[in-house]
Amino acid sequence: MRIDHDALIVGAGGAGLWAAVELARAGVDAAVLTKLYPTRSHTGAAQGGVCAALGNLEEDHWEWHMFDTIKGGDYLTDQDVAEVLAREAIETVIELEHMGLPFNRTSEGKIDQRRFGGHTRNFGEGPVRRACFAADRTGHMILQTLYQQAIKYGVKFYDEYHVVDLLSEGGDLGSGGRSAGVVAYRIADGELHTFRSKAVLLATGGFGRMFRITSNAWSLTGDGVSLAYRHGVPMEDMEFYQFHPTGIVGLGILLSEAARGEGGYLLDNDGHRFMDRYAPKLMELAPRDMVSRAMYQEIRAGRGIDGKDYVYLDLRHLGRKLIEEKLPDITEFARVYQGVEPITEPVPVQPTAHYAMGGIPTDITTRVIRDAANTVVPGLYAAGECACVSVHGANRLGTNSLVDLLVFGRRAGRQMAADIGGVGFADLPANAEDAVRDEIEALRGRRTGESTAHIRRDLADVMMDNVGVYRDEALLTEALRKVRALAERYTRASVEDKGKTFNTDLLEAREVGYLLDCAETTVVSALARKESRGAHAREDYPERDDVTFLTHTLATRTDGGPRLSYKPVTITRFEPKPRVY
Ligand SMILES: Cc1cc2nc3c(=O)[nH]c(=O)nc-3n(C[C@H](O)[C@H](O)[C@H](O)COP(=O)(O)OP(=O)(O)OC[C@H]3O[C@@H](n4cnc5c(N)ncnc54)[C@H](O)[C@@H]3O)c2cc1C
Repeated sequence: MRIDHDALIVGAGGAGLWAAVELARAGVDAAVLTKLYPTRSHTGAAQGGVCAALGNLEEDHWEWHMFDTIKGGDYLTDQDVAEVLAREAIETVIELEHMGLPFNRTSEGKIDQRRFGGHTRNFGEGPVRRACFAADRTGHMILQTLYQQAIKYGVKFYDEYHVVDLLSEGGDLGSGGRSAGVVAYRIADGELHTFRSKAVLLATGGFGRMFRITSNAWSLTGDGVSLAYRHGVPMEDMEFYQFHPTGIVGLGILLSEAARGEGGYLLDNDGHRFMDRYAPKLMELAPRDMVSRAMYQEIRAGRGIDGKDYVYLDLRHLGRKLIEEKLPDITEFARVYQGVEPITEPVPVQPTAHYAMGGIPTDITTRVIRDAANTVVPGLYAAGECACVSVHGANRLGTNSLVDLLVFGRRAGRQMAADIGGVGFADLPANAEDAVRDEIEALRGRRTGESTAHIRRDLADVMMDNVGVYRDEALLTEALRKVRALAERYTRASVEDKGKTFNTDLLEAREVGYLLDCAETTVVSALARKESRGAHAREDYPERDDVTFLTHTLATRTDGGPRLSYKPVTITRFEPKPRVY
């Protein structure tokens, strides 16, 4: 079936929903396609908060927030973008409040705020209360609030439509063509539908599922990033993947940084707050890349708990009242998944793969770009975790992702509404979905071959073991060989379920293909970056090298693997300095 909408949004997380609301308010015919029911998007799992320099409890300024974002990103952040984030954070959070989001309140009725890693007063002096929150369910509240707004403004939803291809007119997306729509697979009955559109926003979220231990939902497989890549759009800064320090041991389920924001400690086997050895000023509230590395160092030095590969998160001194009021969900996770009572016992934690700083390259207005000269792909936009605008640089600060969704989701909606005036629908051939139909039928039709579930498991292992918190040439070279061998196995894999009704086996098999694309570009980009910056820590190149590597990596698909090129970082106000906390 063929369906037309002026604007299409792929993804119903915070970024997609805000864009949809913005478009609908502007009177644009906008539709959202989502493989999950909207309120199951990962945004709903976000816990700790969304930051904005409201200054409700102490002095704060957007300039401080801008600086923290740049320093937190180890100076790879584009500074014009960080300025937009820090300024527009304030108005978008207040707009969310007006939409009805039930934030925690101060005794005067203002939005309550708490500390988070790397957020400081007066350009690095000490922690500041900048994270606005609704207990430890902030993302849940944002998602529900935005979904209500989208319904109110009449956004059309295609729930459980899995987008499997991107369409273009006048050439491929990477070679001058304009975006013309998408092909989606309806999960209920396996039918393919062609959606034509004048503007397409990719808001498909991250790809943490390429790692074994991750906080990410099962569905976070890099679909939008990979589909754009297959059509010639590069992936930007893929070597920067964030490990969050406090995941539940063995499972990776997140225990929010809010636990440390509220005053929680990290302890080694001797009961010592080991962060004094790494970040004496900010201690547990140093940025995540540093805390995760510190935990690895402690474990390597034999100071993990009982010599094992984890440390303790200690909340006991915070008291029952605070824990129950401000951290109810994560303490429940510790009880349910670990059998630990955080009010009376320390909680075992280890780093967990959490957030993709890299993704689809865009300009400051969310338009997708396809090369180092910032050439725009007409009609294609990206926002949220799948995009690399780049506001998080080499390492994102806690609470800066939710605000990224608000600020750049809103910008995407506005830009799309402005751009589609006078644009017509593309003249697509009747068989626009044939290419992807053939791919899907080949996968479904293969009688023999291993299950893609095995490939997914092996991929997650190699990425975790070789491309984790610490990397070096030997580990990465081995990873590349293994990832390519997995990609080769993938071409021969088959699925067990041959049916059309709710065939999750088939769709998960496709998702493994997306993860393989993301993994290959991650490893190739990481191998080439012979320095340590933010979340990319090379033991063979431990120093940051601003002379050679103060650049963004672009990885473009070729038949022989990704081809790398580099793009300068935008520096407006803050010259790169050593990053000390
Ligand atoms: C456990 C956890 C806690 C977090 N806590 C915080 C926090 O406190 N503060 C903070 O700032 N950040 C936090 N983050 C990060 C933040 O939540 C995410 O980066 C952000 O929510 C991503 O939002 P998004 O809109 O980009 O995508 P998501 O919310 O991930 O949504 C992706 C959407 O894309 C759709 N989709 C994907 N592929 C397809 C396809 N092929 N076809 C159709 N639809 C598709 C999905 O259905 C979904 O609707 C947390 C992340 C996790 C995992």
